[in-house]
Amino acid sequence: MDPHPGAPPAPEPETSPLIRPRAQEPPTAHAASTTERGSFCLAVCCCGWRGPARRSRDLARRDAAEHGAA
Ligand SMILES: [Zn+2]
Repeated sequence: MDPHPGAPPAPEPETSPLIRPRAQEPPTAHAASTTERGSFCLAVCCCGWRGPARRSRDLARRDAAEHGAA
């Protein structure tokens, strides 16, 4: 009688490092600047966004800054 070897050793489970692909958002490169149109000034961005026409350049600049921050 030959001894039955029994069940073969179970293969070791692969211990793979936990690879978690991070959801990478594309860098939102908003380059907003101000442009003058007539007597108004408005903020424009390279993404196509345009702010409202302002009488004040400071306001338009603020629109551009807010858009870039958003
Ligand atoms: Zn933009």
